[in-house]
Amino acid sequence: MAVQPKQVLPVDSASENGFVHFFFSMAEKPDTTVRLFDRSDYYTAHGKDALFAAKEVFKTNGVIKYLGSGSRKLEGVVLSKMNFEAFVRDLLLVRQYRVEVYRNKAGNKSSKEQDWQLAYKASPGNLTQFEEILFGGSAPVGSAGVVGVRLGTGDGQRVVGVGYVDATLRRLGVCEFPDNDQFSNLEALLVQIGPKECVLPGGEIAGDMAKLRQVVQRGGLLMSDRKRMEFGTKDIVQDLNRLLRARKGEQVSSAALPEMEKQIAMGSLAAVVKYLELLSDESNFGSFEMTTFDLSQYMRLDNAAVQALNLFQASPDDTTGTHSLAGLLNKCRTPQGQRLVNQWIKQPLMDKNKIEERLDLVQSFFEDAELRQSCQEDLLRRFPDLNRLAKKFQRQSATLQDCYRVYQAAQQLPSLVQALERHDGGHQVLLNAVFISPLKDLISDFSKYQEMIETTLDMNQIEHHEFLVKPSFDPNLSELRERMDELERGMQSSLSAAARDLGLEAGKTVKLESNAQLGFYFRVTCKEEKGLRNNKKYSTLDVQKNGVRFTNSKLSSLSEDYARNREEYEEAQNAIVKEIISISTGYVEPIQTLNEVVAQLDAVVSFAHVSNAAPVPFVRPVVLERGAGQLCLTGARHPCIEAQDDVAFIPNDVSFSRGQDTFHIITGPNMGGKSTYIRQVGVIVLMAQIGCFVPCDSAEVTVVDCVLARVGAGDSQLKGVSTFMAEMLETAAILRSATEDSLIIIDELGRGTSTYDGFGLAWAISEFIATRLRAFCLFATHFHELTALAERLPTVHNLHVTALTTDSTLTMLYRVQRGICDQSFGIHVAELANFPKHVIESAKEKALELEEFQDAETEGAEGPAAKRPCLDREEGEKIIEEFLGRVKALPVSEMSEQEVKDELKKLKAAVLAKNNSFVNKIVARSKTSP
Ligand code: ADP
Repeated sequence: MAVQPKQVLPVDSASENGFVHFFFSMAEKPDTTVRLFDRSDYYTAHGKDALFAAKEVFKTNGVIKYLGSGSRKLEGVVLSKMNFEAFVRDLLLVRQYRVEVYRNKAGNKSSKEQDWQLAYKASPGNLTQFEEILFGGSAPVGSAGVVGVRLGTGDGQRVVGVGYVDATLRRLGVCEFPDNDQFSNLEALLVQIGPKECVLPGGEIAGDMAKLRQVVQRGGLLMSDRKRMEFGTKDIVQDLNRLLRARKGEQVSSAALPEMEKQIAMGSLAAVVKYLELLSDESNFGSFEMTTFDLSQYMRLDNAAVQALNLFQASPDDTTGTHSLAGLLNKCRTPQGQRLVNQWIKQPLMDKNKIEERLDLVQSFFEDAELRQSCQEDLLRRFPDLNRLAKKFQRQSATLQDCYRVYQAAQQLPSLVQALERHDGGHQVLLNAVFISPLKDLISDFSKYQEMIETTLDMNQIEHHEFLVKPSFDPNLSELRERMDELERGMQSSLSAAARDLGLEAGKTVKLESNAQLGFYFRVTCKEEKGLRNNKKYSTLDVQKNGVRFTNSKLSSLSEDYARNREEYEEAQNAIVKEIISISTGYVEPIQTLNEVVAQLDAVVSFAHVSNAAPVPFVRPVVLERGAGQLCLTGARHPCIEAQDDVAFIPNDVSFSRGQDTFHIITGPNMGGKSTYIRQVGVIVLMAQIGCFVPCDSAEVTVVDCVLARVGAGDSQLKGVSTFMAEMLETAAILRSATEDSLIIIDELGRGTSTYDGFGLAWAISEFIATRLRAFCLFATHFHELTALAERLPTVHNLHVTALTTDSTLTMLYRVQRGICDQSFGIHVAELANFPKHVIESAKEKALELEEFQDAETEGAEGPAAKRPCLDREEGEKIIEEFLGRVKALPVSEMSEQEVKDELKKLKAAVLAKNNSFVNKIVARSKTSP
């Protein structure tokens, strides 16, 4: 529980009432926006937000105070600066809420005047104003952007217009495309650009817009409704002229941009620009770039595929990061590298040349262990988040330390170039084009910068983490420096004196240290602390794990003098510092270029490292042009599952070929590896298209245009049949967006609904995919009846996962083989669950009869029309399994023989009441036999 700070809400009742009055006059807000009031040394939340803060921060309503009087009482909660920061971080990063902070312009917090104004605000897609609070030293991973979406028509078709702003990378984008009823293209686009927030025209919630909202929601985006008006394109030309960066020697004239033709998308962009108030911050001017997002450039992924392939961690608190593909592939050493890998995973390439290029780069580092290791373990770590630094310069909030960071980064370039030049693999030319030559250009771009920093910064002081201008720069500064050096010498000698006095060794058992809060102080370890006790000459400052910090009168006066001098020094150097920072700001462009080169190198090295460090090293896939119609993997593994410690993974093959094998049905026992098998194929294809090596013995991959997935919800039993039907129909509609070049993964469609509807739809959907779409498809199912499809369609084939059964055990082999799984495993699963022996014996007998029965029934039957008895059998097996489960649950040890018999009788009666023809026949037979 957080500690409640001492401050109280404004005591003066006039100002209190003034505030309450003001608060109730504020415009309405949604609950997902939290308003906080800055009272200079603490913050407050009120009304609903106060209740929320009390619950979230303090976990008690005890902290709620009431303001005002009579009918207008207002709840209030006080947040210390620390509480405030933690709360804001939670709101923006975890909950994805909006935050607004208000300040009283009338000044004095106890004054009667109430002139509260919005000082700053943030939303999950726009964190700029809170960056320091949120991330302190570390940078956010992943982009934070906002999209605007609106609908229009073109050539009588529904057209979606998307505008996109990434305030971190300073990019604007537009994209316009026709879409289907399910907005499959929009969904894919949202996956590819991964924004955090979506702006929609308010008031439109019916029909198409309702469906569109569902798609946005499925992507986990925060939705903000804006006035329709804001989607107008009236001002956009003028706004863009201000925001866009001019190319060298060119005037920006956004009216002439090719993007301007996309009027629907431009309207959406206009709404986002207004939403983020980009024009109210001058540091934004001339700093954005415009891009057109080409939907067909990347492989399309829907949200279901992102989940089924486990591309990203499910939630930020999920610490099992290695089980997602991003967690596995992201072994980057820099924040920019991490961001890029995440982006690559969302944007698998379609252009074979580009894929090959990335694979070439990965291969270079894969083969050159020395280069890979020196990059991973040494060189890359030395680069800071250059994107963040560039932005600090743009925002004019950079410090001398930031200038030094850039200097340090540039200082690393020669050794990086040297290391890369030593490589002599087959792709030297490419390495040169992508890394070496841009890095060399950067070395020369930064040469003047390095000189400037070296001549202006006091490098001696940097060793002590002090960032100051060289004293020689100004006589005033040198004088101050001399005095400070003298003071320091004085402090050293008082250290010696104290050491002598305390019987300790200066610099060893007692040390002179300093920090920003305490200035200079002595420190001894807790062990040596005895000598200080009751010693009037010394006063203890604080006690920490690493020792006791203390001072004496001499030291503290020297330290104060020093601090005063230092302050003077900072003042005196102010003008020079401004000049240095302003010159550095001119280097924003090379800083950003360096950021990109480092990010790319880091990402490629990470892929090579992961490919090499896997339990069995990955191999380079052979990539075939889209349309080649071959997908052939041997010894394929699931990269995330094989990486788990306790798994000995069994590799499997898969082979697709257009016109011959396009559709595989996978059956077999539960937990037999069906899901893993079909998902690993999707993961491997995706890995190949992001230019990574793949977990196979050999891989031939044709570029696919999309990976779509349908994963049956395990809880469809709980839903009514009609919802189930609706979901199936939606599945069919979504799949319609697939082409011959797509890969579809379907897992346990219709689990738990042993209904004819479920089976009929599974059959219909499969037939549709196999005969009309002709996309590559993997279908894992428990509908054994579906395997009959292979007899009717030449491109459909059956596969099954195998298991080994002995008298009393069932061992999963995880081996995928051709053909239908021919054994019923229900009984073995029951055995594994420790059923009483005699129950299993009788079940085994029944199973034998069951098989005879099955043979008799299916003789002479043909096609799906003959499926009904099979389904009865399936249902029957379920009923029996359920029965066995109930038997198992009986507390037999606490029951008498008779009680057990009675209970069994009851359970049997319940089974018979289900009136399943299959069960009935077995029961009839077992009655005739003794
Ligand atoms: P199913 O879909 O048939 O119910 P799963 O694919 O969910 O089965 O697999 C169940 C478990 O078996 C997985 O969690 C995994 O640990 C293990 N498994 C699956 N495939 C393999 C394999 N090829 N080699 C080793 N273990 C596997």
